[in-house]
Amino acid sequence: MHKRFEDFIAAMTQLTSEAGRNEPRILDEGAKLLGELVRHDDWLDARHAAPHPQFYQQYLLHRAPDDSFSVVSFVWSPGQKTPIHDHTVWGLIGMLRNAEISQSFERDENTGTLTATEQVRLEPGSVEAVSPTIGDVHQVINAFDDRVSISIHVYGADIGKVRRHVFDPATGAAKEFVSGYAN
Ligand code: FE
Repeated sequence: MHKRFEDFIAAMTQLTSEAGRNEPRILDEGAKLLGELVRHDDWLDARHAAPHPQFYQQYLLHRAPDDSFSVVSFVWSPGQKTPIHDHTVWGLIGMLRNAEISQSFERDENTGTLTATEQVRLEPGSVEAVSPTIGDVHQVINAFDDRVSISIHVYGADIGKVRRHVFDPATGAAKEFVSGYAN
């Protein structure tokens, strides 16, 4: 494991154990730690940076022994994008290589209606946060149609075990899903 990543995991482990359920603190201090990690693109193993022509790839980089957080690399082939989805736990997204666009949505609990809100373009070194308390529904798109982009995600659980939702863009209807890991 690269020293840079090792230091990040040690700092995140300390932060999550100290902060407990203090989500604002985790998001604030975690964003700084993740920002520092993704400011340098010299530590991610090639096997965790491999794109797939058909599907965006999610490689598990670290899972806390108590499932308190997990770290995943997202590898986007040109033009790839997620469905509209939620997380149900806090999440931090740090851009490592090239760029992605995150389109946020507000969803009416009763009707399911989705309304597009802000759109952000993440450039290398920048970090975005999601969670049920600050806004949890978005769609993420590789900003490039001619190159691979990579972002590093940190979630407040083992995200590979979390039951969450994808939403039909036309009706807002929710469908349960659990994301897997490519490795
Ligand atoms: Fe997401």
